[in-house]
Amino acid sequence: MDNMKNFEDNERLNNPKKQNIIKEKLAERGVNLMDIAALTYDLQKPYVPTITIDICLEHVNNVLLKREIQHAILVGIELDVLAEKDLLSEPLLSLVKGDHSLFGVDETIAFSIVNVYGSIGLTNFGYVDKLKPGVIGELDGAGKREGRCNTFLDDIVGAIASAAASSIAHRYTV
Ligand code: MG
Repeated sequence: MDNMKNFEDNERLNNPKKQNIIKEKLAERGVNLMDIAALTYDLQKPYVPTITIDICLEHVNNVLLKREIQHAILVGIELDVLAEKDLLSEPLLSLVKGDHSLFGVDETIAFSIVNVYGSIGLTNFGYVDKLKPGVIGELDGAGKREGRCNTFLDDIVGAIASAAASSIAHRYTV
């Protein structure tokens, strides 16, 4: 009964509380929200010339308030961390650690983030996933070092930036 009560309390946690947990998890994995905002800025600058990095950061924060997105981030980061500790079973452990381009589930988690923001989020994600600008490329490179796994994290970061770009597009463009 107590367990059920804890579960219900947890589900009722207001999103800002969970948003702080998500921000801490991202920071623990070396992700700075400003770096995500910089990706969003580059994506939207051609369409919204008045855009500022502060506006981008505000939209990144808004994206992190959405429950479905918070859950996708939690799942992806947890799988990276478990893989680093060899705590997944085979064949999943090798698939996640190997970060093979045909694994595909890292992108599926990213889709569950951008899907909340419609087609602009999806096309932006495809673009950054291919080019790996800024912090995405850094995370991808760092994840190939011994003892480190960023298989899900680079896609999560690209998806957050793309979702924020879509959020800005919905607000500022006609
Ligand atoms: Mg990946």
